[in-house]
Amino acid sequence: MAERNLIDTIRTRQQVTSTNLIKGIGDDCAVIQCGHSDNKVISTDMLVENIHFDLSFHPPYLLGRKSVAVNLSDVAAMGGTPEFILLSMALPSKIEERWIVQYIDGVVDICNQFGCQLIGGDTVTGAECSFSVTVIGRGPGQPVYRSGAKAGQDIYVSGELGSSGLGLELLKLSKTGENHEQFVNAHLNPLPMVGLGMQLGKSGVAAAMLDVSDGIATDLAHICKESRVGAEVEETTLPANPFFKQLCQKVNRDPLQLMLGGGEDYQLLFTAEQISRELIQKIEQDIDIPLTRIGKVTRGQGVYLIEASGNRKEISFQGYEHL
Ligand code: ADP
Ligand code: MG
Repeated sequence: MAERNLIDTIRTRQQVTSTNLIKGIGDDCAVIQCGHSDNKVISTDMLVENIHFDLSFHPPYLLGRKSVAVNLSDVAAMGGTPEFILLSMALPSKIEERWIVQYIDGVVDICNQFGCQLIGGDTVTGAECSFSVTVIGRGPGQPVYRSGAKAGQDIYVSGELGSSGLGLELLKLSKTGENHEQFVNAHLNPLPMVGLGMQLGKSGVAAAMLDVSDGIATDLAHICKESRVGAEVEETTLPANPFFKQLCQKVNRDPLQLMLGGGEDYQLLFTAEQISRELIQKIEQDIDIPLTRIGKVTRGQGVYLIEASGNRKEISFQGYEHL
């Protein structure tokens, strides 16, 4: 069963009973009302050995950082501000104490960097290493959902696409060399777009938003499904690092496929009214992260790629699958 079908099954089998729940299953975070005007955003993500990380090349400090980063990224995707995390760890006996201490240092450092606090968790023995982080944040007045896209809006993505996927390939093949570091870093030590998410949330400029964890082919399809719209993405506009194509050749991977479905980029993908173009340019300058317009929201359904040749092909849900 595909991951999204399984989540749909879970979603339809449970009843929503709490009147304090603003948004349940189906977005980057759940949103819960606390008091009259305050709301909290909450999300949880797991990293499992040999599925999400490889102990042979992922340094413990960076893995600690990444365990938190992927969760902060979900808070960013709602326009929220991270406040607290809980950390649960399953550790096999082969793991040395030194390794765990370095892992925790990574967790604590990234928490400090983004002004949030570790407040609890759970520690158990397991057959293999796995880490689960839950993050709690403050929501903006109006959280940015996946369901807010409307036909005619522009589609934007922050930063570069495919860098983490390429970094993983370089690590798996033990390739080293000039200009490799930025890609390897994108995979081992991704930086969540918290400041950008907060700006987009506060300004109200993003109509729909999520973070790119599975590649835009799948993640844009999530926005389309939740918003009941379609999307068209222009191949020639997709942002990549200047060394990306050249290094894709080295690992024998198709650059376009990595950009659309490499996953783990943790960039923000959002839609906005065309009238907001100037404001978005201003945010881009303020925050000093490129925001690239990659296509438009359309009527109908499905995500389509307009290839460099002008050919139009469907790419819905063709990104990374976890199951
Ligand atoms: P993301 O990639 O942003 O972390 P996921 O694809 O993991 O999001 O999950 C999509 C939605 O499904 C989220 O709202 C998440 O909370 C929910 N979800 C995922 N797995 C489960 C589960 N086992 N039980 C309940 N909800 C789940
Ligand atoms: Mg997400």
